[in-house]
Amino acid sequence: MAKKAFKSESKRLLDLMINAIYTHKEIFLRELISNASDSIDKLYYIALTDENITFHKDDYYIRIEADEKNRTLTISDTGIGMSKEELEENLGTIAKSGSLEFKKELEHEEGHDIIGQFGVGFYSAFMVAEKVTVISKKHGSDEAYQWESEGADGYTVTKSAKENVGTKIILSLKPNTEDENYDEFLKEYTLRSIIKKYSDYIRYPIKMTVEKSRPKPNAEGQEGAPEYETYFEEETLNSMVPIWRKNKSELTQEDYNNFYKETFFDFEAPAAVIHTSADGITSYKALLFLPQKAPYNYYTKEFEKGLALYTNGVLIMEKCSDLLPDCFSFVRGLVDSADLSLNISREMLQHDRQLQVISKNLQKKIKSELLKLMKDQRETYEKFFSGFGRQLKFSVYNEFGREKDLVSDLILFYSVKQQKMVSLKEYIDAMAEDQKFIYYACGESNEKIARLPQTERVLDKGFDILCFTDDIDEFAIKMLGEYEKKAFKSVSSDDLGFEEENEPKEDHDDKELFLFMKEALGDKVKEVKKSMRLKSHPVCITSGGELSIEMEKVLNSMPADQKVKAERVLEINPNHPVFEKMKVLFDSDKEKLKKYAEVLYGSALLIEGLSLEDPIEFSNFICDLL
Ligand code: ADP
Repeated sequence: MAKKAFKSESKRLLDLMINAIYTHKEIFLRELISNASDSIDKLYYIALTDENITFHKDDYYIRIEADEKNRTLTISDTGIGMSKEELEENLGTIAKSGSLEFKKELEHEEGHDIIGQFGVGFYSAFMVAEKVTVISKKHGSDEAYQWESEGADGYTVTKSAKENVGTKIILSLKPNTEDENYDEFLKEYTLRSIIKKYSDYIRYPIKMTVEKSRPKPNAEGQEGAPEYETYFEEETLNSMVPIWRKNKSELTQEDYNNFYKETFFDFEAPAAVIHTSADGITSYKALLFLPQKAPYNYYTKEFEKGLALYTNGVLIMEKCSDLLPDCFSFVRGLVDSADLSLNISREMLQHDRQLQVISKNLQKKIKSELLKLMKDQRETYEKFFSGFGRQLKFSVYNEFGREKDLVSDLILFYSVKQQKMVSLKEYIDAMAEDQKFIYYACGESNEKIARLPQTERVLDKGFDILCFTDDIDEFAIKMLGEYEKKAFKSVSSDDLGFEEENEPKEDHDDKELFLFMKEALGDKVKEVKKSMRLKSHPVCITSGGELSIEMEKVLNSMPADQKVKAERVLEINPNHPVFEKMKVLFDSDKEKLKKYAEVLYGSALLIEGLSLEDPIEFSNFICDLL
């Protein structure tokens, strides 16, 4: 039969595999075993609904055979098999989205380290084999076919013979090179450890005939050292029991970490593991992981939240989003519940009361685990928070604060006084007795905020200030309103809420001076007034109404027809030498005072990180005054 060419995308992936410089070539076995297991799953599903098939547990298995002499490794399964068309369709094309995604990723990045992150599938066989032969007999058919390929130049499909339904994959290993000893993959010890590492929880037995030794039976009773003989025995290499069905006491942190890394393709161990179960009306086992770092697509539309849903160890949904609230969308893991029907439809699942109960329970668990992490492993929590904090803060605000109670205890802000990240609770615990509000300031960075003129008075009183550097921060706390009965107050709001604040006496002349400046600035400001918050700086801008200047910045950066504008108040420090100068000008040179007003207003804008409305005019005013 003539050779057929691979589809072009497949050919490229194949090329990559053949020439892989990837060091973990061993993953080809994981991929082939997963495919075998999937194919048994498919037959198992059919058996569930087809009365003509009786399900015998022992009939479903995967077998590994190593032939050291001929240098072949064979992986066979008793799964659903493939027809002639399926052999062409499935093995001549990249079927899986995972493989495609992997390929896309490779195009962006140099190096092959990311191979481990994706299921690379069947073609990974070409990392170790120079020839791959697949013999398959499809369930319900009497005919078997053979697919064979020696690499990128194509493949053949021919009629073949096979007794049982299922698939057999024969890898003829590449010749050994200086760097790579492919014979390793024929050694029992290596195969055993690769299977243990990657495929221990495959639900079907992975069998291999292994060499063992025992004392010779006729050696009994004889003197001297007993003689041994070798014999062969079939052994199941994987433990099969899914990790979440084991007892916590049987498992080590290492077991959890390995499971997490393999299942979710993360390089790093999780920040925390939640292994929990419930019995009663709703019974389930759940194994959840809190990642340390956000995956690359976490803050994009592509990211899909959800937990895998199993019933009695059989996967029924890969990503059940109803099991996780949005605020905890970063959690990965699975739920195995005996109470769900296998044939339940997706729509029905969405309204399933059992699921809602499970989801509520898990929410509480996740929250308490995060609080525990915050308390006991601060560094890990802060690392976690640097990746997922935005999501938590966003969740305070999102959907009119529906999830705010779940997350408000979990958010951290940088504290100006303590110079570290603190939770709202920690801020309140450290508050002075006469402090009534939780003070915050907005800005680009913690350093810039600490230098804002508006912070001086608040800090002088000994009150701490939280730094809001994320766009979402101020919106989030506006939604929160208060925390433990303490309201939030911006250091830029017109009233700082100091108790014994006696208004500086506004003598008549000053009032006129401020009115004059307001007229000079026109619509740019709502008011010019004497400041009670400034100490060393001459001016600052604060906001009068509900909308703060930071919120104005955020809202105006979004695409919208109408721009919003916060009410700006220009505050002047009455103790600054500039103020004395202005008083003199008010009596002697009003034209010059107008320029002062503009320059002071412009400087206040710049300090705030806002842009000048007319930089040329501003610069002209400065030159005039100079
Ligand atoms: P996938 O990620 O979809 O498994 P692969 O490249 O590994 O991608 O395999 C492509 C397809 O070939 C599979 O989706 C499956 O339909 C089929 N296939 C692979 N191995 C087997 C097997 N052992 N038995 C039956 N079908 C298989």
